[in-house]
Amino acid sequence: MAFELPELPYAYDALGEFMSAETLEYHHDKHHQAYVDNGNKLAEAAGMSGNGLEEIVKASFGTNAGLFNNAAQHYNHLHFWHWMAPNGGGTKIPGKLEAAINSDLGGYDKFKADFMAAGATQFGSGWCWIAMKDGKLEIMKTPNGENPLVHGATPILGCDVWEHSYYIDYRNARPKYLEAFVDSLINWEYASELFEKASA
Ligand code: ZN
Repeated sequence: MAFELPELPYAYDALGEFMSAETLEYHHDKHHQAYVDNGNKLAEAAGMSGNGLEEIVKASFGTNAGLFNNAAQHYNHLHFWHWMAPNGGGTKIPGKLEAAINSDLGGYDKFKADFMAAGATQFGSGWCWIAMKDGKLEIMKTPNGENPLVHGATPILGCDVWEHSYYIDYRNARPKYLEAFVDSLINWEYASELFEKASA
């Protein structure tokens, strides 16, 4: 099944000042497109073009760096567009997920501090996450295209801390971008859907 670039789930200017249309045009139309195109070529070369995306991500980790980087970034970005929404962020969290954040992550304020610290201290490119592992939520950070899937966990929420995600709008101020992501961009409904699926 070939990888395909989906449309953004909102207009390019829908995230306002928090993530500009210019950023989304580059990030979605150029960067994500390149992961799709390169991923398809490398999956074909590896004889894996008939496999599912999660399967390719897990199978190529540690064995085929080129394919892994592109397939994992395709997976990460497919979710990333949905992890943001206009008028998102803040504490309007669906009940069950909120309860798990309280019990497993020490509550919203501690989640926010730990999630932002994970993103800010990821040296170079990477991601910070809420992931579900062994039935519990945890905060993770990963380099480059790596994600919780290859660490036996399921991504619930992720923030892209590659410079291509924030440099146009925030220059080098990664912590400001992370704060805007948490306060104003997170699509908690989507995170909650993934949480319900992972809990089932
Ligand atoms: Zn990205």
